[in-house]
Amino acid sequence: MNYQSILNEIQNEIKPLFKQGQVANYIPALAKANPNDFAMSLITLDGEEYNIGSYEKKFSIQSISKVFTFTLALKNYSKELYKRVGHEPSGDPFNSLVQLEYENGIPRNPFINAGAIATTDTLLSLYKDDTFKKVLEFIKETSMQDDIIFNENIYHSELEHGFRNLALINLMKSFKNIKNNTEDVIQTYFKQCSIMMNTKQLAKSMLYLANHGINPKNNERLINESQAKRINSLMLTCGHYDASGDFAYRVGLPGKSGVGGGIVAIVPKKMAISVYSPKLNEKGNSLIGTKALELFTTKTGLSIF
Ligand code: GLN
Repeated sequence: MNYQSILNEIQNEIKPLFKQGQVANYIPALAKANPNDFAMSLITLDGEEYNIGSYEKKFSIQSISKVFTFTLALKNYSKELYKRVGHEPSGDPFNSLVQLEYENGIPRNPFINAGAIATTDTLLSLYKDDTFKKVLEFIKETSMQDDIIFNENIYHSELEHGFRNLALINLMKSFKNIKNNTEDVIQTYFKQCSIMMNTKQLAKSMLYLANHGINPKNNERLINESQAKRINSLMLTCGHYDASGDFAYRVGLPGKSGVGGGIVAIVPKKMAISVYSPKLNEKGNSLIGTKALELFTTKTGLSIF
């Protein structure tokens, strides 16, 4: 299959959509993104790479970081982790508080904010002051890139406007599902959200999930096969919050989005893909990114179904 010409076709076909959607503005630093940016990268297990658009441009990975923290927590805690966070779709927006109250402070899944925050809290109990460093190291390892850092500006902007996330932390703390200091939890969570990567690096960083838990670049096993299966399953059912059903329906691949405009998706046993376009749909997922992935699976027949 000629993937490069498929990417070219996609770039042409998404053009009319640039009028739609809105760049995230509840985090002021994110509102500065260029609404016309588009990038898409694809990397196969045997190392073939295809890119289009501004694929060298870094953006904050936001909720895509939840895949890495969940992987690390699952690796360390195994099934014990599910006492603190569930594995069902929430059907609610990513920053919703309501469900958490009547479900006694146990978030539905690790990919909504509450679930990711509880996950980060489990890592803080393990790694203490080194937690963010460990998260970053893990991302560097999976993406095989050394120059990955977080953006101070975005981080501070998130901290200054993180009212809902603070509320989620406090609510979970009242149910004893946050064990560490509130400040440490929120700071670590916002640092992980403001990590900067481009689509090329993100696609590479997801290869272990397309390859049963083994990084195909160096044959290193990061997690076991069943853990990789579970992470992919959760990406399919929960990776796009209350639009996870719609994403599965249209794209048919495990995927995870972030409000920075990035999406990662996995074609099991074949490849990892990443898309970037900062204008979001009303559920907080990249509008053009979703469409680009839908076009990709339609043109290639490479959905999991
Ligand atoms: N940092 C963002 C937040 O906590 C991440 C949300 C997202 O990407 N959906 O609101």
